Amino acid sequence: MNYPVNEIFETIQGEGAKTGVPSVFLRLQGCPVGCSWCDTKHTWEVDKTKLTSIENVVDVSNTSDCWADLDENMLLSRLQKYSAKHIVITGGEPCMYDLRPLTALLHQNGFTTQIETSGTFEIYTHENTYVTVSPKVGMKGGYSVLVSALNRANEIKHPVATEQHIRDLQALLAKISHNQFVEVCLQPISQKKRATELAIAECIKHNWRLSVQMHKYLMID
Ligand code: SF4
Repeated sequence: MNYPVNEIFETIQGEGAKTGVPSVFLRLQGCPVGCSWCDTKHTWEVDKTKLTSIENVVDVSNTSDCWADLDENMLLSRLQKYSAKHIVITGGEPCMYDLRPLTALLHQNGFTTQIETSGTFEIYTHENTYVTVSPKVGMKGGYSVLVSALNRANEIKHPVATEQHIRDLQALLAKISHNQFVEVCLQPISQKKRATELAIAECIKHNWRLSVQMHKYLMID
């Protein structure tokens, strides 16, 4: 299966429960969700006129909307060149695509996988993929967060700036099956002071985890 790839780079996971894990990020092109604070707006459109070669998306900081069309075998052979064995598939919205061919091949070859999704698309991935749902509620694209995505999540990483975001999160958590363990992380939006203070207070109150986007404080990709 072919995937539209915006960017591949090796770094340290900076968010959520896997913060600190050496990882290769595979950023797919395409997202219709429309978050106003999105920091990867260049990934929203899959414009066929922006098709490019693999060299232009690997180990370069690609902030443009160009993308390479790569299948799972091409991706495996590229990903095997890195030291990190944890592959984070992000976007854009990676669950616009069937991730089973790619994640199955990666697990067969000794990798672990993680996906970062808004929860607004059905999740098709390997059974051992660590699924991070960062629920996007009420965005201008008009998509709803799916209960099936919440129930597949290993962690829910919720962007937070206001008390309304906490209420949104609690409404989502109430939909999850009671026998499902899910790690809950609060992530202050854009490192704002008030958002961070709110997130710390709510994490302590509910025994949730704080996710501070470590890479932004370290000023790395
Ligand atoms: S879901 Fe992610 S990529 Fe899509 S608009 Fe929202 S923040 Fe951006």
